[in-house]
Formats: sequence, structure tokens, C-alpha cells
Amino acid sequence: MPLTDAARIIATPAFARASAILRRDHDRFVEDIVALTEIPAPPFKEARRAEIYRDLMIQHGLHDVKLDGIGNVTGLRPGKAPGRKGMVVASAHLDTVFPEGTDTTVRREGTKLFAPGVGDDTRGLAALLAFMRALDAAGIETAEDILFVADVGEEGQGDLRGIRHLFTEGEYRDRIGAFFTFDGPEMGKLVTSAIGSHRYRVTFRGPGGHSLNAFGTVSPAYAMAALVAGMGQIVVPETPRTTFSCSVFGGGSSINAIPEEVWVEIDLRSASSEELAKLDARMRALVEEAVAAENGRRETRSGSITAEVKQIGDRPAGATPEDAAIVEACKAALRAHGLDFVTAASSTDANIPMSLGIPAVMIGTGGHGDRYHSVDEWIDVEPEASSKGLSTGLAALIAVAGLVEG
Ligand SMILES: [Zn+2]
Repeated sequence: MPLTDAARIIATPAFARASAILRRDHDRFVEDIVALTEIPAPPFKEARRAEIYRDLMIQHGLHDVKLDGIGNVTGLRPGKAPGRKGMVVASAHLDTVFPEGTDTTVRREGTKLFAPGVGDDTRGLAALLAFMRALDAAGIETAEDILFVADVGEEGQGDLRGIRHLFTEGEYRDRIGAFFTFDGPEMGKLVTSAIGSHRYRVTFRGPGGHSLNAFGTVSPAYAMAALVAGMGQIVVPETPRTTFSCSVFGGGSSINAIPEEVWVEIDLRSASSEELAKLDARMRALVEEAVAAENGRRETRSGSITAEVKQIGDRPAGATPEDAAIVEACKAALRAHGLDFVTAASSTDANIPMSLGIPAVMIGTGGHGDRYHSVDEWIDVEPEASSKGLSTGLAALIAVAGLVEG
């Protein structure tokens, strides 16, 4: 029987070797972070970084290394007795939030690395490579296959398209039994539930007209304002955490014209899919009420107000049970490494498997940092804290895949 208890795995000589290798080769890990960070990966433009990462996976001896249909890079580390619980995914995301042209040159100050994307999630990509090397050098075999994935589209409008593809159309979709996303350095939050979100652009249109001569004509501006004011009156539960925001606005063409078109972008979120559905239905009802009210209040001879609700983001909610093996493994590994943590809800690549009932977590890879999603982003790669995080993640990964002893 493979060993699946993380605390017992950490006590084995094989794991001690792996952990020592992560510490000893920490400089190599930092070099990988720097090299990968300096290959820009703007939203929807991850291809160059993906191709280089594919070559790295091949150099690290993974099997069946390929770019899949959406642009993810996948590579297998075969297990000794695969199939009982399904393959274990170890993933990190290729994309950053930074647009093309952003300077991603890494600046070093002591043990700190400064560059856009250096922590979120380029460190995760380098961590996967460090795991591959430590597993091999320590001679560790797992029962289940480990599928390493460098995925596209985690951030913003990417809308989790890489991991969505992996679980809906990818060739491994029916074989995955557990999913790790290694995202960012921080170890203090073990993400075991997924905040779902629906994002919309709601566009109101009308006939427009001269602000003086056509005064009295229906205006999409008042309909939009009624929607926004109505949203402001919605009461949502604190638990499960549910939020909404009318965030970005646009429209109109001239100060002396009734607008023909105005729009608002709205972000709805909840840790519960039922609450998210309720909030979604309330927003849609408000849109209809706002249109009807404006058409009833003013002149529609030259045309009526209409509204188009266009979904621009959809991240499903979900959760991994606290007693799932993957959560237990992470908790045991964190404790064994003396790291304090809380379980938390977030919106990450793990949303997709969680929404499908596949055990999944998001865990950090060690050290710390700040200013993520800003050009001032930095991480601290002080080797003790940094390699401790790597060792923690690797222990949890091995526990879920099952350590084959001897
Ligand atoms: Zn991230």
C-alpha cells in the first residue's frame, strides 16, 4: 500500500532527501523564477512562455509533454500503480495581468526580487520544476500519475479558460482525481473553497435625440441609473460571503444629446452557487424593471429603451470538504513544517475542479511578497522560508499521489 499520510511521508528518508535538495538547489530555483519572469505572458498572450516551459518539461524528463488545444502545457510523471484514485494535477498559471510592453526585468535587492508577475504566479511555475527535480533526485515514486500543468487564462478576463479546458475538453478530463494549484508565495491561506463570480456588461440603448428639441424622449441613462440604484439596495448575506459591484461605466456621445447607448459592468460574487444564482436573478429583474419604468415614464415615439445583458465572466463556486484527503494532506504538511495557516475562500484555478466535485486546493509555495497585480510586485526568496514552503507543497503533493516505498 502506498503511504498517503503526509506526516509519515515527511519522516521518511526519501522525503528528507527531497527536502534537502529543495534547500540545496534553491539558487537554481531562484534562477528559474528570474528567467521565467522575464518572458512576458500578458493576458491571452502566454504562447511564448508556454513554448519555453514545454521545453523545460521535456528537459525535466516528463512524459507526453504537449501544448493542449487551449495553450496549456501538460506533462506526465507516471505513477507505479496508477488509476485507483486518479491522477493528481500540480498546476501553476502562465499568465500575468500585465499588458504587452510591460517591463518584466527582475531587479534584486538582497533576497527580494522585484518584477511584475514574479510572485503571481511565476514563482509557482518555477516551484513545479523544483518539485520535478527533487522527486527525481530523491528517487521518489508515487502510486498515481502526477500531471504537471502550466495553464493559461487564470487572471481576469482569461476567466479560468485553461483549467476549464483541462476539465471539460482536455484528454485527461475523466482521469483527474485531485488538483493542486500552486499560486503565489503565501502559505498562510489554504484555499479550500471557491468564490464564484458572474460578470456582466449591461448595455441600454434608445433612440437618442437633441437634448433640447427631443426633450422628453426616453433615455437609456435613466434606465441604467435605476439599475445601479436598485443594485445599491440589494441586501446579501455575510455568510456565505456574497458581494456585488457596479464597477465600470461608459456611453453617451455629446453633452447636448440624449445618449443612444450607455453601459455598466457589474461583478457579482458568492461562495455559494445558490446565492450567486439569486443575486444574478435579482440583477436581471432590475434590468427589466428599469427598462419598463423608463419606457413608461417618457416618450417612445422615436423608439424605446432596450437592454442587452452580456456575460463577460463566469467562475463557478464550489468547495472541497475539510475532510478530503487533499485538505488533510496540506494541513498535515503545513503543521509539520511549523507554518501557521487558515483555510480560506478565493477565486483561483481551483474553482473549476471544486465546482465539479473534484477535490482541489490552492496553496502557496513559500516566502512572502506584496503588491501583486501592480508593477511594484515583489517576493522575498530568503532561502530558509522559501524552501520550507516548497517542501510543504511537495509533501502534500506526494501524500495525495501516494508514496511507493522501497
Ligand atoms: Zn495567481
